[in-house]
Amino acid sequence: MIHLRSREEIEKLHRAADVVSRTLGMLAGEVKPGVSTRHLDRLAEEFIRDNGATPSFKGLYGFPAACCMSPGAQVVHGFPTDEPLKEGDIISIDCGACLDGYHGDQAFTFPVGEIDTRVARLLKVTRESIYKGIAKAVAGNRIGDIGHAIQRYCEGYGYGVVRELCGHGIGKKVHEDPQVPNYGSPRRGELIEEGLVIAIEPMINMGTHRVRQLKDGWTILTNDLKPSAHYEHDIAVVDGKPMLLSTYRYINEALGIETDEEAPFAYRL
Ligand code: MG
Ligand code: MG
Repeated sequence: MIHLRSREEIEKLHRAADVVSRTLGMLAGEVKPGVSTRHLDRLAEEFIRDNGATPSFKGLYGFPAACCMSPGAQVVHGFPTDEPLKEGDIISIDCGACLDGYHGDQAFTFPVGEIDTRVARLLKVTRESIYKGIAKAVAGNRIGDIGHAIQRYCEGYGYGVVRELCGHGIGKKVHEDPQVPNYGSPRRGELIEEGLVIAIEPMINMGTHRVRQLKDGWTILTNDLKPSAHYEHDIAVVDGKPMLLSTYRYINEALGIETDEEAPFAYRL
């Protein structure tokens, strides 16, 4: 069942998402060679709790940490470990926070030091694709329009779009209806309506779209062990148009990235 949210609920969802956005912004300054993902996870959990929120993922379906930490060929759902990050790695960090009963859920793939230009392009294209998807989250469109836009953009670069995992509604639970795939056909799927709140999260592989799961029962990685990128935003449909609840502003500030890609979808309540 899809829950359409009131303005008041959307404001609460924005506050929860903003805790996550600021957590990722804080981590942006900490991701460097030699740092372990367990250390980053601890910093994230501390930051979330200091902001009066709780880590949404800890204990969710039995997940042991505040953040999913998925380096290199890991797509999503990796565990934090004591393994130090290395120069040239990438690390996808997916983080969630619950504030006042509402959840935020956001992800970003960070470069660790200097990375290969081909990998940098995968990150850039995946990041750009999320806004192609968001632009389609307009009242009267359908969920398939979002995935179609992401798929078309990423496959245009020869990348693989992961099929097995997708975005989702978000509200009083982290994962709600509808499912929001990163592939699909235009004008198919659930209707996009005023008050819809969803997490859009392209998971894009440099090679094949095929993935497999490690024996830990969690970690998803690419079948060909080529790198994978993951970006995620929470958005609400307000006045018929998509509006960001999360932001990369804090990450951009920390990393010195100048972009106006969020401007068309800026928070406006
Ligand atoms: Mg997430
Ligand atoms: Mg999500």
